[in-house]
Amino acid sequence: MLLAGTVVADPDTVYEEGAVVVDDDEIVAVGPRSSVEDAHADHPVREFDLLSPGLVGGHVHSVQSVGRGIADDTALLEWLAEHVLPMEASLGREEMRTAAELGYLELLESGTTTAIDHLSVNHAEAAFEAAIDLGVRGRLGKVLMDKRAPEGLREDAEEALDSTERLLEAYHGAADDRIRYAVTPRFAVSCTEACLRGAREIADRYDGVRIHTHASENADEIATVEADTGMRNVEWLHEVGLTGEDVVLAHCVHTDEREREILAETGTHVTYCPSSNMKLASGIAPIVDYLDRGIDVALGNDGPPCNNTLDPFTEMKQASLLQKVDRLDPEVTPAQVVFEMATLGGARAAGFESVGALRPGWKADVIALDTDLTRATPLYDPLSHLVFAAHGDDVTFTMVDGDIVYDEPSAASRPATPTTSASGRDGSQTGFGSR
Ligand SMILES: [Zn+2]
Repeated sequence: MLLAGTVVADPDTVYEEGAVVVDDDEIVAVGPRSSVEDAHADHPVREFDLLSPGLVGGHVHSVQSVGRGIADDTALLEWLAEHVLPMEASLGREEMRTAAELGYLELLESGTTTAIDHLSVNHAEAAFEAAIDLGVRGRLGKVLMDKRAPEGLREDAEEALDSTERLLEAYHGAADDRIRYAVTPRFAVSCTEACLRGAREIADRYDGVRIHTHASENADEIATVEADTGMRNVEWLHEVGLTGEDVVLAHCVHTDEREREILAETGTHVTYCPSSNMKLASGIAPIVDYLDRGIDVALGNDGPPCNNTLDPFTEMKQASLLQKVDRLDPEVTPAQVVFEMATLGGARAAGFESVGALRPGWKADVIALDTDLTRATPLYDPLSHLVFAAHGDDVTFTMVDGDIVYDEPSAASRPATPTTSASGRDGSQTGFGSR
């Protein structure tokens, strides 16, 4: 298939009249349409307004989608204990499947093609199955909690680690390697030392498995870890083996100099979740400092109860604006820097090679956006548009691994006025049935 339109191939490369050629699961050509079209004349052509790499959600809780709006105006520990953990504990297998589907549909409809997904303690297999069926690329993991967890979510460390290993053996590398495993302790507050060290042992025993957890999000969380261990949160994770190039730490809002040195020295990835950090009043992560130190930064929506959407475009805008305000410097987070976090930075954190840009030989994870909108007029700079003006519902087409997983007619191709028949906008190719 040849996808034609304005192409943002990566943070530094835009083709105003461009094309992306896809064969099976791979991009085989990207460039000016005039230079790639003749060589691929046998490919069916789809016309779009604006094409972009699929975005990477560096920290998501798909299964919290059913808790959207249940816990506004609270801070992290109360938000968890009073609202989110009881909600997660109440979900049976069928509800977990529905919750995960809701999360993945929102991701795919709004332009996220890869997600690092923090599931729940129970029924994680239902979310793995949903991810496989709906076509998202994902780094998923069952949550580990063996202390300070409510009834229904607390397991003992051995039980939690055993079920982690069973899930890992069943799903790591599933769906042609579109699904990979992350060992996922919830956070140091709710995991014993045995549980955290056990997470590291499992990750070391399997090729390509990662570790994903929360760290240093909130002052009360950090004080709790300090009271338990005598160490700062990131220092403690480092002590028990949970830093390194295979580790993704969500948030890292409040870190001291030593912790930042640890993150940089170990190659640990950080996921910046600006909407969540603002909504839970957690604070402002020192992202510009992390980038200056060479730390890889991904971008994440976190979960619907703390965001309250999984729109990656809103997240890019918030990501930039919050750093500008923090530094009182408009130049610290231009569109290129934020787009890198939302694509290549996220892919590095998720541990997927050849994902996060439109390049020959890379994975065919491509999205298309409608720009026939008053909000997109005029459109001088496609990259600026993606970061500062686009919304998730501008996305009309999502391809993951060469499969079309979302295909909505653009506004331009919809009838200008609804017809009197009940079908209205129906009857077109809308839907998820193409896999
Ligand atoms: Zn989270």
